[in-house]
Amino acid sequence: GTAGAVTADEVDSLVAHFPPCMRHLHMSLRHDKHLRHGGRMQYGLFLKAIGLPIEEALVFWRRAFANMTEDQFQKGYAYNIRHNYGLEGKRADYKPYDCMRIITSNPPSTGDHHGCPFRHFSSQNLEEMLFRYGVPQTQIREFTNLVSEKHFNVACTRLFELTKKLQGADASALVRELITHPNQWFEASYKSSKA
Ligand code: SF4
Repeated sequence: GTAGAVTADEVDSLVAHFPPCMRHLHMSLRHDKHLRHGGRMQYGLFLKAIGLPIEEALVFWRRAFANMTEDQFQKGYAYNIRHNYGLEGKRADYKPYDCMRIITSNPPSTGDHHGCPFRHFSSQNLEEMLFRYGVPQTQIREFTNLVSEKHFNVACTRLFELTKKLQGADASALVRELITHPNQWFEASYKSSKA
């Protein structure tokens, strides 16, 4: 992965480089000490792609599901995690989901936290999220307009640029293309922090 080999302990310190969809999944996981299947798939494959190896993924998820017994974890979840890493079943090397897939398939139901905030959040939740990112009140409308025109990737790319500007980076040097993949956000953000 971009960040080299990531350990279970390091994930929290990398969340600052996660795109909104993955941040939301991470925060929900920490809050609920659980994630439903759609979230585990979307977030688990993202983490794999940033460089979390299978041994660390098992540690990460086992610790995250703090209210579960070892037996419940092994029977209900460990197989799926190994499966995502190609160690079970068809042994396919599953790729992390791109934005298109996240935006257009398997929409989240109540209790789910997967999906794309720009596509799936209520307008109130989206505005609160943008506010937490530091988007000034005067610019919130720009985002809600983009979202109402279904330009979800443009809104995400703008948010990336804006947050990097707030951090003092020259955003134009960071993203030359539309963000169409969550790992693209991570890589650009991570690289900018090392530059
Ligand atoms: Fe995640 Fe893509 Fe949505 Fe951005 S546009 S929040 S990277 S799914």
